[in-house]
Amino acid sequence: MNALGRHILVEFYDCSPELMNDVVHIENSMVAAAETAGATVINSTFHHFSPYGVSGVVVIQESHLAIHTWPEYGYAAVDLFTCGDSVDPWVSYSYLKEAFESGHGSSMELRRGQLSLLKRNDFNLDALRDVAPKSIEADGTITRDVWFTERDENIALSLKHSGNQLYKKDSPYQRVEIFETLAYGNMLTLDGMVMCTQKDEYVYHEMITHVPMFSHTKAKRALVIGGGDGGTVRELLRHEQLEEVTLVEIDELVIEACKLHLPETAVAFGNPRLNLLVEDGIKYINDCEDGRYDLIIIDSADPVGPGEGLFTAEFYKEVYRCLTPDGLMITQSESPRFNTGVFVEIYETYKQIFGENKVHCYLAGIPTYPTGTWSFSYSSKGDAHPLQFDKDAAAKFSQEQGLKYYNEEIHTAAFALPNFVKELLANGSKKDI
Ligand code: SAM
Repeated sequence: MNALGRHILVEFYDCSPELMNDVVHIENSMVAAAETAGATVINSTFHHFSPYGVSGVVVIQESHLAIHTWPEYGYAAVDLFTCGDSVDPWVSYSYLKEAFESGHGSSMELRRGQLSLLKRNDFNLDALRDVAPKSIEADGTITRDVWFTERDENIALSLKHSGNQLYKKDSPYQRVEIFETLAYGNMLTLDGMVMCTQKDEYVYHEMITHVPMFSHTKAKRALVIGGGDGGTVRELLRHEQLEEVTLVEIDELVIEACKLHLPETAVAFGNPRLNLLVEDGIKYINDCEDGRYDLIIIDSADPVGPGEGLFTAEFYKEVYRCLTPDGLMITQSESPRFNTGVFVEIYETYKQIFGENKVHCYLAGIPTYPTGTWSFSYSSKGDAHPLQFDKDAAAKFSQEQGLKYYNEEIHTAAFALPNFVKELLANGSKKDI
């Protein structure tokens, strides 16, 4: 070769938008395209951006293959760069055109490092030897960095995962996925938003259940709307006094995915005291009789897609109607810092329905939720107050049940709010926080 390397700039058009957004498929295809061309793969790093798009590079002994996709255009820009003549980059080109179901591609090959233009420097190669690149793992496995990223305009959370997609199905309501993250275990996402992970789900599920259960000790009937991962009913069913727990989840695929890949969270789905319904929670509450439940927990995702209707005054008024005279409504009420507007709006709505002094906010630290600080609302139809509870009973329960987050001190501390949150609850988000 009269050049050090061959660089093919590739434009793949009319690709399937699905595939252009599938980080696992793209990473596997890029690694396979390199290996099929005879390259020795060293490492691969791929990033899946939300809402869509993938970027990644496969480092090979013979240089690299790189890609960035625009699913919205069915388009991928690919760089195939090889040095030496043991690898034919055009083999990778053909492999990827097929793998991405590209309608047509255009490409241009550049010879990089024209030898006629280069002058070899005499230098002692040995001197460089001690910074030699890390050899491929003895067992030939390549190091793969495949990242899942949840982001909005200004904030992002990235979690490295194994690259093996454990579960991925589209339901009529949303995309249901399970990723095998390296730091937080298996993770459930809906439409690219983190719902729960094996390593921190207990924070959310213990706080959304035990706080109300210890401040409403006569509760016999509980209703959970949403919560298809099973964590909330798992915690509720630890309380023997509950005679009946009803879970109304709109999407059976969420239940299926969690039974398969989040077994610790889905463990209570077979409990005889559980009434598991696959139904729209809004319809269920509209059809429900007055005063039926002592405790209603809205374990919804964010106010988008099927869950949007779970953040409306109409819906909360219906919840109020279905509560017993001293019943409690508990909701996941978003992050005061991440979705400030929604946070302020829903608290104003709760106060209009339950009364100014009957609504309380409490916080918990959930590492895989945006900003890591999440909130829960506690609205009482009767006189129950979140801080009037039997601390000894709560301490004993936390001990006996081996809880990992909830205890009598956290119960109290969670209601101690920072000034900026008090400000938001008192005056709405007029002031910049
Ligand atoms: N902890 C999570 C969070 O804070 O984002 C929520 C977990 S849970 C998985 C949310 C569940 O609510 C989802 O399984 C979703 O399918 C369900 N859901 C959304 N809208 C619903 C509706 N209208 N009726 C019943 N379930 C609904």
